[in-house]
Amino acid sequence: MLDVTSKALFHGLAKIPTLQRLASKYGMAPGSGFARRFIAGESIAEAIDCVKDLPSKGLLLTLDYLGESVSSAAAAAAAADDYVRIIDAIVKSGIERNVSLKLTQLGLDVDKATAVDNMRRILEPADANGFFVRIDMENSPYTDATLDILDTLWRQGHRNIGTVIQSCLKRSPEDVRRLNVIQARVRLVKGAYKEPKNLAFQRKADVDAAYLELMHMLLDEGHYPAIATHDPDMIDATRAYAKSQGISNDRFEFQMLYGIRRDLQASLVKDGYRVRVYVPFGKQWYPYFMRRLGERPANVAFVLKGILSDQG
Ligand SMILES: Cc1cc2nc3c(=O)[nH]c(=O)nc-3n(C[C@H](O)[C@H](O)[C@H](O)COP(=O)(O)OP(=O)(O)OC[C@H]3O[C@@H](n4cnc5c(N)ncnc54)[C@H](O)[C@@H]3O)c2cc1C
Repeated sequence: MLDVTSKALFHGLAKIPTLQRLASKYGMAPGSGFARRFIAGESIAEAIDCVKDLPSKGLLLTLDYLGESVSSAAAAAAAADDYVRIIDAIVKSGIERNVSLKLTQLGLDVDKATAVDNMRRILEPADANGFFVRIDMENSPYTDATLDILDTLWRQGHRNIGTVIQSCLKRSPEDVRRLNVIQARVRLVKGAYKEPKNLAFQRKADVDAAYLELMHMLLDEGHYPAIATHDPDMIDATRAYAKSQGISNDRFEFQMLYGIRRDLQASLVKDGYRVRVYVPFGKQWYPYFMRRLGERPANVAFVLKGILSDQG
């Protein structure tokens, strides 16, 4: 995780139209597009094709249809329609039935009720076909609403849903306790967004220490938590804690992002751990992609090399 200045830089860059145009021209070009390292394609067909060989490597998957910050009810309903079609395509393809989505893609900025209605429309075919649906966590203005919506859906009887907790947020121990009480599945992450000092730890050491504390809470009292990180220290600490507490490998899973630390994914599988790869796809890949660049300077060099070789 980079410091808050670098995160801010990339969140700023993500909003520059010229960069967006350049990226969409070259980023997902067939075969050589530099964003293809992190994005599985622009269509569901491309994404399914891309993930077909993951099971043979012992990897689990979740598909994320990229999109966020939708500002009209019509666009949110269209995103829900897309998700219903995606669910159908996943069922037909025979790949694992697991998706991740964002509530601002489903109208949370319009109002909570719109997002809940769209979630219900997605959960109907998802529940009927045995899907697990993970509600990604966005930045802190959405934390309360996301947890409330999960709660509402939970009370309405939806059990194949879960959400995400960010260790950078100071409130997270309380949120984990709340989710552990109902036994909702939690994915633990460090947090991808630039957050204010009063709400979030700014130093990597503090975010990491909080991550370890939350990992303990989830392994002790949570329900099948997902430890989502590429950080070898967090992974080693999880392995050691699980072992010391006699928690078997099938009571939790590791998760990593598509295209990141494939070596580590493979070595965890080899050691008998469950590893799920988060596979994003869709035309709206740019904000996601910029968050990944903001996490690691080496990725910028990788992308620039890609752009130059595409143009050359
Ligand atoms: C499956 C999954 C789902 C996620 N869902 C959410 C979510 O819903 N909400 C949210 O806020 N965040 C989410 N994130 C992102 C997360 O919050 C972090 O921003 C991201 O995972 C980087 O943190 P890290 O734990 O890998 O550790 P860091 O401390 O950032 O990195 C540790 C090491 O991992 C490697 N690494 C990390 N990032 C990259 C990268 N981009 N490219 C190459 N190497 C890298 C490097 O070797 C680095 O030294 C998710 C992450 C994963 C893995």
